[in-house]
Amino acid sequence: MNSPRVLVSGASVAGPMLAYWLHRFGFTPTVVERTAEVRVGGGGHAVDLFGPAVDLMDWMGVLPEVRECRTRTEVMSFARAGRRPVEVPAEALAEGVSDQHIEIMRGDLARILYELTSEQVEYVFDDSVATLVETAGEVEVTFERGAPRTFDLVIGADGLHSTTRRLVFGVEQEFARFLGGYLAVFTVPNYLELKDRMVGFSAVGQTAAMYPVRNTGEARVVLLWRTDNLHDYDRHDLDAQRRLVRNLYGDLGWELPRLLDELDSADDLYLDSISQVVMDRWTRGRVALVGDAGYCPGPAVGGGTSLAAIGAYVLASELVAAEGDHVRGFAAYERALAPVVDHSRSIGPTVLDLIIPKSRTQIWATAQAMHVLPHIPAHLRRRLTSFGGSAAAMLGEARLRRPEDLQLIR
Ligand SMILES: Cc1cc2nc3c(=O)[nH]c(=O)nc-3n(C[C@H](O)[C@H](O)[C@H](O)COP(=O)(O)OP(=O)(O)OC[C@H]3O[C@@H](n4cnc5c(N)ncnc54)[C@H](O)[C@@H]3O)c2cc1C
Repeated sequence: MNSPRVLVSGASVAGPMLAYWLHRFGFTPTVVERTAEVRVGGGGHAVDLFGPAVDLMDWMGVLPEVRECRTRTEVMSFARAGRRPVEVPAEALAEGVSDQHIEIMRGDLARILYELTSEQVEYVFDDSVATLVETAGEVEVTFERGAPRTFDLVIGADGLHSTTRRLVFGVEQEFARFLGGYLAVFTVPNYLELKDRMVGFSAVGQTAAMYPVRNTGEARVVLLWRTDNLHDYDRHDLDAQRRLVRNLYGDLGWELPRLLDELDSADDLYLDSISQVVMDRWTRGRVALVGDAGYCPGPAVGGGTSLAAIGAYVLASELVAAEGDHVRGFAAYERALAPVVDHSRSIGPTVLDLIIPKSRTQIWATAQAMHVLPHIPAHLRRRLTSFGGSAAAMLGEARLRRPEDLQLIR
């Protein structure tokens, strides 16, 4: 049997993970990535690996490196007007989700996964799929830059605003579920000289936080706010987005005057709605979606990185278990992941409610809870920080086949 050729669109988390396992199981993956290179040196924002996603790093042999690159955020400190900040150990907030947790910058994770695979897998940077046409037994693919090629399967691992999804399943609006919040992230110099700690401040409907990026002298600012309706702005107009943020945060106080001044010279502002991707199916014909492209649980609120890593592994393992038969493999992938994805959708709204307070009473109550959290018995603390038990249950439900139990397809 010839090794099936699989085009993977996107080289962040799900894409390189999938490429690794496809190659290991005997497929021939090619990864196409829109950006000119994989983000390096602490790029992007902090993301979380929980439970089985940590096991997967171990199975791939990169766990020591992933651990070495962890953000090392040890303390979360919440400022309060006119009062001493409340401080809580970061792990006390994560242990209810899973007893295995690593926080790492997305750029570091993507780089580790890229370096792991770059010698065996063909990567094409600075390009994107333009059209996909399924013919008998193949998919004909044209690219924005490169020459047309044919593949046996195409997998979209190209994130929340997936091109693959648009080309094969329909426009984004059909699948986007707005959770009633927005987020903005940008880089500033680490002028507070933060080390191993995140500092934050909340007002009704608005939260601002800042954490250092190791070995860079930089800090990342995260702003989260509540709104009933989607903002109307031009995604390509950076100044318009800066004005939107300034209008919302100009009066907040805390570190905002300095941060908003820094925003004027920050060229990496990321601003987006907090939305989920809700689809009934993630496969059609010879095309499948994985990670945020198919089932984003909401950026920054839903554990999307672990879901992307687990989804990539489940897809590769079900394809090889089906001996490369994509009809059986895709069906098994959807069956195995459906309960996990369903669960993941309940996490975002809960976390959003928690981190963007709705009232002054909630701000006060959260501060009290942070005070007592480190001092209560561990089992109670874990229950309180499990976000309704949903995250832990979701990750526990990902029953992963062991790679050594799977037969290679060549
Ligand atoms: C601000 C922010 C904060 C977050 N915080 C957390 C957190 O604390 N914890 C957590 O677990 N998760 C967090 N997330 C979510 C997490 O980043 C995603 O769930 C995770 O990165 C999903 O991985 P992915 O590989 O599916 O997609 P992505 O990481 O979005 O990667 C998609 C890749 O596809 C590429 N691409 C896009 N279009 C094309 C195209 N047409 N052709 C080729 N390539 C393309 C992109 O350049 C990118 O490399 C956060 C997200 C954001 C935006």
